[in-house]
Amino acid sequence: MRTLAILLTAFAAVTANAADLAVGKADAFHQLVAADAKVEKLGTGMKFVEGPCWIKTDGGWLVFSDIPSNELKKWTAAGGVTTWRNPSNNTNGNLLDQQGRLISCEHSSRRVTRTNADGTIEVLVDSFDGKKLNSPNDVAVKSDGTLWITDPPYGIPKDQKQELDAQNVFRFDPATPDKSKAMTVAIADCDRPNGLCFSPDEKLLYVADSGKPKHIRVFTVKDDGTLSDGKVFATLDKGAPDGIRCDAQGNVWSSAGDGVRVYAPDGTWLGTVLTPEGAANLCFGGADGKTLFITARTSLYAIPTLTTQALVK
Ligand code: MG
Repeated sequence: MRTLAILLTAFAAVTANAADLAVGKADAFHQLVAADAKVEKLGTGMKFVEGPCWIKTDGGWLVFSDIPSNELKKWTAAGGVTTWRNPSNNTNGNLLDQQGRLISCEHSSRRVTRTNADGTIEVLVDSFDGKKLNSPNDVAVKSDGTLWITDPPYGIPKDQKQELDAQNVFRFDPATPDKSKAMTVAIADCDRPNGLCFSPDEKLLYVADSGKPKHIRVFTVKDDGTLSDGKVFATLDKGAPDGIRCDAQGNVWSSAGDGVRVYAPDGTWLGTVLTPEGAANLCFGGADGKTLFITARTSLYAIPTLTTQALVK
């Protein structure tokens, strides 16, 4: 009996591992995620979670969005999941700027805001060319202070109309003195632009299109702040790419229908962190910066990794 129990325990451990990871290129993938790493559920019972962002202050905590619940949530190791802001104007993506201020993409108010150190919420941008934004979805911050914002129509309130005739990726420079010139169109030919992130050297911008293409494109970032050479980097066959992040080595981690897929800088699929629910977004954080947090439908998950997020310089 004892032998059987040991065998069963060993089998359970193996199947747990097998269920948590799908491996493409084992050598490269296991430099990023250990073979025995396990996905842990940190909280559940929410409606549709998105926009995770690790904040180092106050002992370290995760902010993330529950979009339909109109709330920003807070997770700490000690306190679990609590509500941090309500209402959130159905906030989706969140990210810190270089000064550590929270940048939030608000769906129902159709704007991008900054939460200042004193707690005040400042509207950074809510229109382009005299028309309301669609419903800002996600944001990337570049070291020159510019914000790169995706604007698909997913979150336009039912009693409101789309005013812009495109689903743009915008470049927004908060420092531009003439506010009418602060926002420019960086990419105009997306179906549903969604997650986006820079390579560690900021020479590349990755943009997920969760509409018909279901792919991630990569663009060269030119010195003048414009983009060129857009080409398909990876196409998903399960679900669509939503939130994406680059790690410190330049690998691209993308949410997908089956979890978080990891691609080498040349687009090779290295492996997938499998989640029980389809993943919408992800970020790295935790005390050592190596915990991958995953927002997936009703739940928040985490898995230890061996890398960190590419940081704004
Ligand atoms: Mg998104």
